[in-house]
Amino acid sequence: MAKLIDGKVISAAVKEEVKAEVSALKQKGVTPGLAVIIVGEDPASKVYVANKEKACEASGMASFKYALPENTSEEELLALIQKLNNDSCVNGILCQLPLPRHLNEELIINSIVPEKDVDAFHPQNVGKIMIGNYDFLPCTPAGIMEMLKYENIDIEGKECVVIGRSNIVGKPMSMLLLHKNGTVTVCHSRTKNLKEVCKRADILVAAVGRANFVTADMVKPGAVVIDVGINRLENGKLCGDVNFAEVEPVASYITPVPGGVGPMTIATLMKNTVTAAKKQNNI
Ligand code: NAD
Repeated sequence: MAKLIDGKVISAAVKEEVKAEVSALKQKGVTPGLAVIIVGEDPASKVYVANKEKACEASGMASFKYALPENTSEEELLALIQKLNNDSCVNGILCQLPLPRHLNEELIINSIVPEKDVDAFHPQNVGKIMIGNYDFLPCTPAGIMEMLKYENIDIEGKECVVIGRSNIVGKPMSMLLLHKNGTVTVCHSRTKNLKEVCKRADILVAAVGRANFVTADMVKPGAVVIDVGINRLENGKLCGDVNFAEVEPVASYITPVPGGVGPMTIATLMKNTVTAAKKQNNI
């Protein structure tokens, strides 16, 4: 039976650290502030944004929410980002993805100044992550690294397999594992012999976006299995990319969905906003 890596417990510890840092910063006259922009009515995005707002408030940070209509033009969105770039009360800016199709995601991401890019999606921050000399780490992969650290899971020399190569999860995840001296393989939709490759993994990270994609026959006995997927089933329940019931008896550690990686993502966002506030105030 695998040990459950409890994202709620670990994220609570991170959030407590953030809260203490926010309180210390406030004594120096700095209140970290996060601006969250959401365009349109995507239900999942609305839930994520509400959770981010709640976490900001709980940590004592200022939160500025901008809920824009679906038909917002690129010019309007860019003008708002420009305003927030120049607002000293705003230390972090996040534009919830996905954006409606008529908006150029790359252009929007690139318009956020790198110093306030707490999602670490700007090319300057992505480049720094490649080099290994970074200010911010993307929230989901960084949250996963925190989980591995919390459980004292050693990465050095381990076979690490990441399924998924998105800019948000898969690619930066593989880079962070590499920085910790893992031997990393990145799999994607064109990977041949996926099952065999996954079965090599001491640490298997699934970021595919398909319910129950990872089955027991893809997992090496004793592997650490990290489930990034958030999939909504027809019955409304959330489900990860890993078939939990099948894989849990095979793995040594496993993250649940919900209550695994998700809460860590938000905790890291809070951490990044504090880092941004400190840097912008030379603290
Ligand atoms: P994405 O759609 O951008 O990327 C999915 C990746 O899976 C792609 O790189 C693709 O090549 C790969 N893939 C698709 N089919 C495959 C197949 N048959 N075999 C192997 N690889 C395949 O998605 P994303 O943004 O990286 O998100 C992945 C999942 O993680 C989604 O469920 C998303 O909701 C979830 N997510 C969770 C959090 C969190 O905080 N827990 C954060 C971000 C994303």
